[in-house]
Amino acid sequence: MNSQTSNKAIPYIGRFAPSPTGPLHFGSLIAAIASYLDARANQGQWLLRMEDLDPPREPEGAAEQILDQLVALNLEWDGNVLFQSTRLENYQQALEQLDSNHLCFQCDCTRPQIKAMGSVYDGRCRNRNTTPNGDFAIRVRTDNRNITFNDLVQGDYEQNIENEVGDFVILRKDKLFAYQLAVVVDDAFQDITHIIRGFDLIDSTPRQIYLQQLLGLPTPIYGHFPVIVNEQGQKLSKQHFAAPIDVNNGPLLVYKSLEFLGMSPPEIHKTAAAKEQLAWAIEKWDIQAVPKLANIPENSLEMD
Ligand code: GLU
Repeated sequence: MNSQTSNKAIPYIGRFAPSPTGPLHFGSLIAAIASYLDARANQGQWLLRMEDLDPPREPEGAAEQILDQLVALNLEWDGNVLFQSTRLENYQQALEQLDSNHLCFQCDCTRPQIKAMGSVYDGRCRNRNTTPNGDFAIRVRTDNRNITFNDLVQGDYEQNIENEVGDFVILRKDKLFAYQLAVVVDDAFQDITHIIRGFDLIDSTPRQIYLQQLLGLPTPIYGHFPVIVNEQGQKLSKQHFAAPIDVNNGPLLVYKSLEFLGMSPPEIHKTAAAKEQLAWAIEKWDIQAVPKLANIPENSLEMD
């Protein structure tokens, strides 16, 4: 069989990567469902990674709660869950690789100092040759390249990291590895080909692509669906006290998630089991139909 006649599907490995800072809320459920549907509709794998790198922000039992919620909603992942807390040596190796190429540096600038820079780090510790006395972070050196990518939902996106973000942290002052570094190392480790996640992370994507370039890692395909904001325009997140979902409302939760993602499930699905609704949605899924923007006041999502 030559490549023209082969009907082998394009390999697709997707993932859902929650931080266990609490049980799933409606916003994180949408991230789970969107990444799940895109993977399954492409005959792909859907992996689960627990981004448990920040113990002070992780209540006891939250990771287990998330897994239980996913199971209750029939969101079945492939393989074993990857816990980032088991991967510290790998993040350290990546950091050493950057360090040996002189691509990162120690920085003890304080939050007020960075605020005074206009929140774009101005590179002031780049050329220091003494180790700071107190706690310090490690930042990666940025350059003037424009990072561009074509987002499956949002279209073309471009950012000049040096001008818009500045050298960014890869090891925090408290010596925890930063999300940007860990996510890049693990997306490559898990051979992720497609990343479907919320729009609140789109401005992190250029930093992640930049790190992939520095570390010699492949760049996956990205798609960022809109995130729900409350009436104050804040992202619906655990920080803004979004209520944990109650899986006893499974049918309606899945129904509302599908509607949010631009689908039109039949009315009768409001009471149909999650499993049945997901099977329907895999058939009908079209990432092009996901709206670019959403601005749904929180109370319109009430489960009544
Ligand atoms: N762990 C991140 C979160 O819960 C998501 C990371 C990602 O999808 O890249 O917001």
